[in-house]
Amino acid sequence: MENDKLLVSSTKTQVRCKPINRQQFLLRPVDVEKLIEPDHPARAIWELTGKADLTPFYTDLEAVEGVAGRPAWDPQLLASLWIYAYKEGNNSAREIARLCTYHPAYQWLTGLQVVNHHTLADFRTGHKEALDTLFIEILGVLSHEGLITLERVTQDGTKVKASASDKSFHRKTTLEDHLRLAREQVKQMGDPESEEMSQRVAKARERAVREKQGRLEEALKVLEQMQAARSKTSAEKEDKEKQKPIRVSSTDPEARVMPQGKGGYAPSYNTQISTDARAKVIVAVGMSQSANDGGELLPAVERIEVNLGEKPKQMVVDGAYPTQDNIEAMAQEGIDLIGPLPERKKAPWDPLKRRGVSPEFYPQAFSYEASTDRYTCPGGKVLVFETEEKQGGWIRRRYRARRSECRACSFQGQCCPQTQKGRSLVRMQLSPEQAAFQAKMETPEAQQIYKQRAGVAEFPHAWIKDKIGLRQFRLRGLAKVTMEALWACLTYNVCLWIRLCWRPRRLAPV
Ligand code: SF4
Repeated sequence: MENDKLLVSSTKTQVRCKPINRQQFLLRPVDVEKLIEPDHPARAIWELTGKADLTPFYTDLEAVEGVAGRPAWDPQLLASLWIYAYKEGNNSAREIARLCTYHPAYQWLTGLQVVNHHTLADFRTGHKEALDTLFIEILGVLSHEGLITLERVTQDGTKVKASASDKSFHRKTTLEDHLRLAREQVKQMGDPESEEMSQRVAKARERAVREKQGRLEEALKVLEQMQAARSKTSAEKEDKEKQKPIRVSSTDPEARVMPQGKGGYAPSYNTQISTDARAKVIVAVGMSQSANDGGELLPAVERIEVNLGEKPKQMVVDGAYPTQDNIEAMAQEGIDLIGPLPERKKAPWDPLKRRGVSPEFYPQAFSYEASTDRYTCPGGKVLVFETEEKQGGWIRRRYRARRSECRACSFQGQCCPQTQKGRSLVRMQLSPEQAAFQAKMETPEAQQIYKQRAGVAEFPHAWIKDKIGLRQFRLRGLAKVTMEALWACLTYNVCLWIRLCWRPRRLAPV
C-alpha cells in the first residue's frame, strides 16, 4: 500500500497540466452580429416582429422626441424577447433578464443591453389590445403564405392549472377572517421611510400585504356573485348543490376547480384553442372558467371571425360540443359541424345484450306512433311515455310497458328477462337540425373527417404544454392568464412560420 502511494505521487510529479488562471482580466472584441448563426430562430423572430404593425404598443410610450427623460425600450425588442423566451420554454421575466447578461441569443436581440425584469413583466400583461393585434398580424402573414384556409377548423379545450393550490379555497367565514387580519396588518404597518429595515424590504412587505388584502376582497366579491347566481337557479330547481358551501381561492379568486385529463381535480382555467386543419395554425384562443366545453363553440366562432374576417366553413369537435344549442346555432350560421353522436359513447344495444334481450326484441322491432306518442311492442302492447332526461343537450325520452302485461306475456324471456318493471325504450327527441346532424354523422365521409380531429386539435395543446411548459399559469386572474395563453399561442404560430416559411439570409462578409 505504501509503495502504491509513492508510485502515484512520483507519477504526478512527472506530468504537466495546463494551469487555470482565474485572477486575470481580458478585453475581448465582441461582434454582436456573429453572436448567433445566420439561421438562428432569434433572427427569424426579429424579422417577423419587424414585419408586423406594432403601432398599438408604441401609443402608450411616454418618451418622445423633444421631451426630457430616458428613452423607452423598443416594443419590437420586448415582444421578440418574450416570443424567443416562450419558444425556449422560459416564461419568467426574472429569468429572461438574467439570460440577457450572458446568453448569446438574448444578447443579440438586446444588442448586449440588459432589460429590467419589471419592464418585461409589465410589457407581458400591460397591452392586451396590442397583443391581440399582434396575434392577428401574424395570422395575416400565415394566411398570406397559404397556411390558413378556414375550410376546416377544429375546436378543443384543455385544463391548465391555475397559480393557486387546493388549500387556498375557503368558505366565506374563513375569507372574512383572513381579510380582517390583513387589514389589521396594513394598519399596523409603519411608514416604510422610517423603518429600521431597508426601505426596499419595507416597501416590498407593504406591497405584499396590500396585494393580499386586495385578493381577499376580490375573493369575497366573487363568492357573493357565485352565491347570488346559485340562489337564482336554486329558486327554480331545488338541488343538493344548494347545501354545499361555496369556496373561492384566496390566491386566485377567478380560478375554478376542474377535472383534470389524467384524473383528479385542481384549480384551473379552461383554455380553448381553434386550429385550422390546413397547417395546424392556431386561429383563435379563448379562456373559460367553466369546465364544460359545451358553451365554448359559439364564442370560438366569433373569435375566429374577429381575427380573420370570416367564419370557418366547417368546425370539427369532440363529444362535449354537439349539444342541441350548438347544432342549431351552427346550422343557423351555415357552418358544417362534425362531431360524435351521443349514442356512440353509450351504444344502446350493448346493455340489451348484457340483459339477455333477443335481437328480435331490439328497439327496431317496436313501432312508434307520433300522433299518440306511444310505442307498440311485438306482442301488441303499448309503451307509454314515462320520463325525460337531458344528456349533453340531447333529450332522451323513456317509454315503458305495463309490468302486469309483460309478466303475462309469453315473450318475456326474450324481451325483458331481467327487469322487475315492464320493458322500457329510450327515444331521442330530435329537432330537425339534430336529425340532419345525426344523418350526416352516420355517413362514412363524416366519420372519416372526424377521425382526423385528434391529430389536428390536440397537437397545439400538446406542443404548448410540452415545449413551452405551460402546464400551470404563472400569472393570476382571468385577464392575465388569457394573455399568458395568447403569448404561448402566438409563439406556437411564430415557430410554425419559422419551420414552414422562413428562409435565413446570408450574413454580409466582414
Ligand atoms: S314482454 Fe312486454 S314489451 Fe315485450 S313483447 Fe311482451 S308485452 Fe310487449
